[in-house]
Amino acid sequence: MNIYIKLLLLFIFSINLSYGQIYKIEKIDINSKEISLHFNKEYPKHYIRHFKLLNPSRDVFDLKHTKINHSIHKKYFKIQQLKYQIVRVTIFSKKFKSRIYKPLFSHKLYRISLTKYLSIESISDNIIKKIRRKRELAKKRRAKHYKKIVKFIKYKPNIKSNEVIVIDAGHGGYDTGAIGGGKREKDLVLMIAKKLSKELKRRGHHTYMTRKSNKFVKLSKRTKIANRKKAILFISIHANSVGKKHRNKLHGIETFFLQKTRDAKSKRVAKRENRAVLKGTNRLSKNVIIDSVLSGPKIVESNKLAISVQGNIIKSLRQKYKGIRDGGVRSAPFWVLVGASRPSILIEVGYISHPKERKRLFNKTYQKVLVKGLANGVDKYLYNRKKEIDL
Ligand SMILES: [Zn+2]
Repeated sequence: MNIYIKLLLLFIFSINLSYGQIYKIEKIDINSKEISLHFNKEYPKHYIRHFKLLNPSRDVFDLKHTKINHSIHKKYFKIQQLKYQIVRVTIFSKKFKSRIYKPLFSHKLYRISLTKYLSIESISDNIIKKIRRKRELAKKRRAKHYKKIVKFIKYKPNIKSNEVIVIDAGHGGYDTGAIGGGKREKDLVLMIAKKLSKELKRRGHHTYMTRKSNKFVKLSKRTKIANRKKAILFISIHANSVGKKHRNKLHGIETFFLQKTRDAKSKRVAKRENRAVLKGTNRLSKNVIIDSVLSGPKIVESNKLAISVQGNIIKSLRQKYKGIRDGGVRSAPFWVLVGASRPSILIEVGYISHPKERKRLFNKTYQKVLVKGLANGVDKYLYNRKKEIDL
């Protein structure tokens, strides 16, 4: 047979199937548990469409190619000829869990069972209330615990007046840094840097900020400031970011110290953070600079400082927040750290690209907890170093 004739026949056949046949509901039995629909002939199940409608919430069964003589309208349900060949059964009450099924050994019958939910709503309401109460209690407990640790500053190093900690808020001015959800890295890191300076001062430290406002500071100038101030530590604050593909996956806190790296991820971060300096500045081979710094003794100290700071940030945040990811201590050739002849670290306080972490990062309480941890890390490092020198 010709393929076109075959197709034509198939077409006619299918039209016949779907439009040729009309099913009639001849009788409807109703009791408190179910509605029984008696058809004039066997009714195909795939003609039934079951769905829910809201406001008010209702269960709907649409029966295609079906006719009914009279509509039925009761308190809990309605059966009507909705359109020319569609009969609609609507169950109004949320108390019922309705389901349509064909009883065994009866081809022409469909039943819609109305299983009572046994006020399932009130049960679920209670469960929700219980969960909420539990969560609130846990929150209160964590807050109490947090208050305790904030008061208790373990490590109090002896601080001399000439010991300045330089705090470097990354980017600034036209250099926005990373952007996520309309929020800019330069704004976030300035907020955190200011909080850190305040916290360290509260603990008796002397601090100096490479920028206190939204202005652009050359990377080379930042380390020069540290040298001029004879800083004992150099702490650079940044926020991380990834492209669309990993936006919802990657989050967490990472601390970097200067070192040549083979780690691809560190290289990626370094490449992004170095972008501002690669533009326009002199073309010194970066390897020459890095090598000269690498040969200095500060790498070990920077590494120690990084470990202390990273560990204490994570510890502090985890006491109050769930899902804090420890990205660990990494090494990377950051230009901002090049030339700083003192323990120097760069903290990526979180991913501005990650929606949930971004929300947290811009939250004042979160910033406070993060900064406390950071300051604890600084204090602990200085305390241990002092102990080493004293020995
Ligand atoms: Zn940055």
